[in-house]
Amino acid sequence: MARVLFTPVFQSVKNMSADSTIAPMLINGEWLSTHAGFPVVNPANGEQLALVSDGTADEALSAVDAAHAAFASWSVTTCHHRSAILYRAWELMLARKAELADLMTREQGKPLRAATNEVQYAADFLLWFAEEAKRMYGESIPSARGDQRFIVHHHPVGVVAAITPWNYPVSMITRKVAPALAAGCTVVLKPAEATPLCAVEVFRILEEAGVPAGVINLVTTASPAPVGKVFCEDERIKKLTFTGSTPVGRKLSAEAAPSLKRVSMELGGHAPFIVYPDADPVHAAKGAALVKFLNTGQACICPNRIFVHRNIATEFVETLASRVSKMKAGDGRGEGIAIGPLVNEAALHKVDKQVADARDKGAEIVCGGQPLTDGNLAQGHFYAPTVLTGVREDMLIYREETFGPVAPVVVFDDEDDVIAMANDTHYGLAAYVYTNNLSTAMRAFEQLRFGIIGINDINPTSASAPFGGMNHSGLGREGAREGLLEYLETKLGGFSI
Ligand code: ADP
Repeated sequence: MARVLFTPVFQSVKNMSADSTIAPMLINGEWLSTHAGFPVVNPANGEQLALVSDGTADEALSAVDAAHAAFASWSVTTCHHRSAILYRAWELMLARKAELADLMTREQGKPLRAATNEVQYAADFLLWFAEEAKRMYGESIPSARGDQRFIVHHHPVGVVAAITPWNYPVSMITRKVAPALAAGCTVVLKPAEATPLCAVEVFRILEEAGVPAGVINLVTTASPAPVGKVFCEDERIKKLTFTGSTPVGRKLSAEAAPSLKRVSMELGGHAPFIVYPDADPVHAAKGAALVKFLNTGQACICPNRIFVHRNIATEFVETLASRVSKMKAGDGRGEGIAIGPLVNEAALHKVDKQVADARDKGAEIVCGGQPLTDGNLAQGHFYAPTVLTGVREDMLIYREETFGPVAPVVVFDDEDDVIAMANDTHYGLAAYVYTNNLSTAMRAFEQLRFGIIGINDINPTSASAPFGGMNHSGLGREGAREGLLEYLETKLGGFSI
């Protein structure tokens, strides 16, 4: 390992070139770079942004050593002290909103406005858990025995390992690290290989806010499996928290099982979006256009099956297609860009394959339907925002998560059938319902087997609300009061007096 100078925030990223500095990792309070780095590229144009330290199992172990050693002192700090540090981190993140958003757009590709919103969302978790840190209340439980008293306390679970994805490269870090720190846990974190620079800057903020050496450790790598193996198998790690795909989540859960770690898994989704016949089709279509194309469709809560009642389908599709066909694709820093690039070539192929399969099986492409390669778009992984109608059960897109800018519309006739159609998936993260009938809304809310249900609402997420899925969409909840409990052990004291 070679030491590199601690570079000021963002300077490292802006000035870095292939043969100068390699973006560092944070282990035991020291910013360290590996001798060779892996490239991080802008998905909009293929430009190399930086070389980043390529950590191995050795660095992962050093990070766990540090987090394990730091737990003894961090876990006994007062929750008021930890709250104050998180509060400072919140202030710092808001002060750097514009720079972080710009970096995110270059590294991940989402339009600048969406990146700015994400930094705000990420900061919301710092504030929320700064507040929740002070509310780790215990309980006193009356006993049936006159001589007995029960009290319940909460204690930090221990060292936490976190693995985060590229699609929300700042907020998925604070959603895990903020509650872990609030609870008194120490952390080792591996960000996605596509977006390590955002992670570096978040860790700089946490360090500047006063998180002590060893309490938070960042291991970047181009080869996630060996680092993931250490995180899953090391007995000193007491909790694994993961956001990413269902296959990887399943594999990590299995690797973590022998050491009986607690796990939180925030995995894939296949959200239904139901528009009942009494709903306003124009209003619903505007909502669908916004939430489906959020982050170019690369969000686990994006609708993947849009069920519209036959009576209002024409008006719905017209409005949706008219909005979608006006969405401009390009480099997210450009004026008026709504559609950024997909993360990589494989993602582009997956989307194109699903659309081709639907078309071959009889779906109609109302707009879009192909990769975008005109001019500068050829340098990135762009796909035209697409609306499909006539989507049926035998099509790939009906079953598989798309993670791209394609809105598949399924027309339904019978209101009694649509809930069963919506529930016909192994996933269970988000669902959306448009209706003006209170009974229909309540029935749908109760019967849909999903963790998050938006009723006439396309943004049912907030740092103060529990986020998470059922079934193959995962285990546990993030944000809200529940988000803190995920990092706490419950301890019962029974006193005979
Ligand atoms: P996606 O398919 O959306 O890229 P992944 O589940 O592959 O989602 O990635 C989410 C996170 O999981 C990333 O940080 C990635 O590096 C990590 N990851 C992928 N494979 C493994 C693995 N075998 N072990 C540990 N982490 C992994």
